Amino acid sequence: MTIGGISSDLEFRNWILQQPEGQTLLRCYQCGRCTSACPVAEIDSSFNPRLFLEKIILADEALAEERLIWTCLTCEQCEVRCPEHVKIPQILILAKVRGLATGNTPQTALDRARSILRQGRTIQVSDPMIKTREKMELPDLGSPPVEQLTKMLTDLKLAKRLESTESRYGGGESE
Ligand code: SF4
Ligand code: SF4
Repeated sequence: MTIGGISSDLEFRNWILQQPEGQTLLRCYQCGRCTSACPVAEIDSSFNPRLFLEKIILADEALAEERLIWTCLTCEQCEVRCPEHVKIPQILILAKVRGLATGNTPQTALDRARSILRQGRTIQVSDPMIKTREKMELPDLGSPPVEQLTKMLTDLKLAKRLESTESRYGGGESE
C-alpha cells in the first residue's frame, strides 16, 4: 500500500534519513539516556523513545500502528540528555506525520486541531480555570485572534485537510 508517497517501512526510514533532523538518527547508539530523561516514560513505562528510534532504524512495521508516539510532549528533555544530540522530538513529529497519512491519528489529536480552528486554543478555557489563574495571580489569558488563525489555517489548506482526515477515518466533533 502506498501512503503519502511512502510504500513501506523501509521507505519511511529512508524518508526520515533524508530530513535534516532525521539524519541525526544515524548517530543513535541505543544507550537509552533519552528514555531515562523522559517525563512521559517516567509515568508510563510503555512509552520508550529509545525503542521508537530502534523501530525506525530497523524499519519495524509495528511502528505504523504505534499510537503512543502521540503522547510525546515535545519537551526536548530527551534531546538535551542525548550524548549524540539526536533530534528525538523532531523525529517523533515526523513519525506523527506518517500517522496522519495512514489515519493512525488519535481522536484527541484531531479534536485539538479542530479546537484551534474554532477557538484558537487546544482546550476550552473554563470558569474554574480562570478562577484558579486569578488565585495564582497569573495574567489574564485574553482572547486569541480566532479570525486571523482560522484564515491562516484555511489559507494553508489545513482546515480542508482536517475535514478530509476526519471524514476518511471517522473523526468527529467533540464539542
Ligand atoms: S540518548 Fe541518544 S544515543 Fe542514546 S538511545 Fe537516546 S537517541 Fe540514541
Ligand atoms: S520530547 Fe517526547 S520523548 Fe522526548 S523527553 Fe519529552 S516527552 Fe519524552
